[in-house]
Amino acid sequence: MSLLIDIHCHLDHPLFEGKLDETIKNAEKAGLKVVLTAGINPETNRKTLEIAEKYDIVKAALGIYPVQTLQKEIETGSYPLKPNIFDIDEEIEFMRKNKNKISAIGECGLDYSQNEDPKKQKDLFLKQISLAEKTKKPIIVHSRKAEADCVDILETSKSKKIIMHCFSGKKSLVKKIDDNGWFMTLPTNIVRSHQFQFIAEYLPITQLFCETDSPYLSPFKDKRNEPSFVIEAYKKLAEIKKMELKEVVNNVWMNWQRVF
Ligand SMILES: [Zn+2]
Repeated sequence: MSLLIDIHCHLDHPLFEGKLDETIKNAEKAGLKVVLTAGINPETNRKTLEIAEKYDIVKAALGIYPVQTLQKEIETGSYPLKPNIFDIDEEIEFMRKNKNKISAIGECGLDYSQNEDPKKQKDLFLKQISLAEKTKKPIIVHSRKAEADCVDILETSKSKKIIMHCFSGKKSLVKKIDDNGWFMTLPTNIVRSHQFQFIAEYLPITQLFCETDSPYLSPFKDKRNEPSFVIEAYKKLAEIKKMELKEVVNNVWMNWQRVF
C-alpha cells in the first residue's frame, strides 16, 4: 500500500517529542503519502507549521480548539490544555496569513463537555468556518456533547469541504451528514468501536477518510498511537465494505484529491 493518508493527528504532542524522525520514517515505510497534523492554539499552530515544513509527507491544519477560550486547565490524557490567554482575532489572522502553507482549517468545532459558554464557542467556530470559506480550505471539525449544534451551524456554510472527525453523534445526525455530502473520518480505534463501525457501514466510501488522532485512539491497547497505524482503520473499513484493501486505499486517495 502506498497511498495511505492519516487525515488527523497531533505530531506536536509532547509524547512525540524527540521521536518525530522515527515516527515519520515509520509512516513512510508503512506507505503513507500524507499525514495531516492539526494545531489547536497559538503555540501548537506554530509548532505544526514547523513540523510540516520539515517533513515532506506532513501537511498542516491550523485551528483553535473550542475549549481554548476556557480559562482553566483541562487534563486530556497527557496533553493538558493550559489556560491560554490570547487574542482570537489575531490568531485567526495568523491562520489566514499562512493559508498558502496549510491544507485545512482545524481542529475546531464545539465541545460542551467542559461547561464552557456555548455562545462564545459558536462565535469562535463561525469565525473559523468563515475563514475556511474565504480561503477555500476544508475544515476539520471536532464535536463533543454538541453534535446537533455543530451540524446546525455547519449547515449555514456554503462550503461542502467539511470533515467530521471522530463523530460520536446519533444515527439521525450521521444521516444528515451523509445527506449533506460531507465527510467523516474513521479513527484507528474503529477496531473496538461500534459507533465507527456503523459509520463505516453507513457512509459511502466516497465520503470517508481514515485517521489516527495520534497519540490518542490507538488500535493497540498497549501502544501509543502513531500515523503508521492508520492502516488498521483502512483494514477494518475494507472488511466492513467487503472490498479489497487496495480498492479502499485508492478510493480514499481519490477523496483526498477531490477535497484538498
Ligand atoms: Zn484531534
